[in-house]
Amino acid sequence: MPKEIRQRFVVGNWKLNGNLAANAALLDACLSAETHPGKVLGVCAPFPYLGQLQLALAKSEVRYGAQDVSRFDKGAFTGEVSASMVAEFGCQLALVGHSERRALFGDSDEAVAEKFGRAKQAGLTPILCVGETLAEREAGITEVVVARQVTAVVQKVGVEALAGAVLAYEPVWAIGTGRTASPAQAQEVHVFLRGFVAKHSVEIGSTLPILYGGSVKKSNAAELFGQPDIDGGLIGGASLVADEFLGIWQAL
Ligand code: PEP
Repeated sequence: MPKEIRQRFVVGNWKLNGNLAANAALLDACLSAETHPGKVLGVCAPFPYLGQLQLALAKSEVRYGAQDVSRFDKGAFTGEVSASMVAEFGCQLALVGHSERRALFGDSDEAVAEKFGRAKQAGLTPILCVGETLAEREAGITEVVVARQVTAVVQKVGVEALAGAVLAYEPVWAIGTGRTASPAQAQEVHVFLRGFVAKHSVEIGSTLPILYGGSVKKSNAAELFGQPDIDGGLIGGASLVADEFLGIWQAL
């Protein structure tokens, strides 16, 4: 299936960064970007700023979303924020299973699958992040790990729930380290992931956008995005620098 049939994305993940003034400058930069049919520019911001993003971006083509959602819909879960709450702020996107959530906040495969389901229920586009640690890569179990992470979601919500969703392959050893997977290394895992999903549904496997994340910069974006199975990028550090982020967008 030619890659042209798949939507392409550049999505920024601001992580625990930002303030009203710095956000406004980054949002202005996003609003200045030329948009193209079939290509999505998006930003995932900390929860308190979603209202600011709504005000700034509501009338634009730029999409925005949350960096996580609760596995629960409502109830006595102090500190949690539900998918339906962020949807009320006009969010269209939600990251689930980012490696920092998995490693630092104990998000299990099962919890990630529940979060994915909540995001879908709320009408959001979940961006399911998967990826192996350096130790797992060196042990030769990259495919086992990412297959396990995807399987948890498929078992919980069914493969049909992947229709309209996005997958992000983010090798943990490349996130925030300045060490990028080579285009060939990334392409290899993307092909595996697409084939793995296609075993459940050929249609969904071939149409599922799979983004690469891990130290993407404007200097390496074009080569990564030029790979046949890389449909864009999830961008951390470089999404906080307007010129870098726009350069990455232009490379899509
Ligand atoms: C990320 O946090 O999803 C990410 C890819 O970070 P960075 O681009 O900084 O490696």
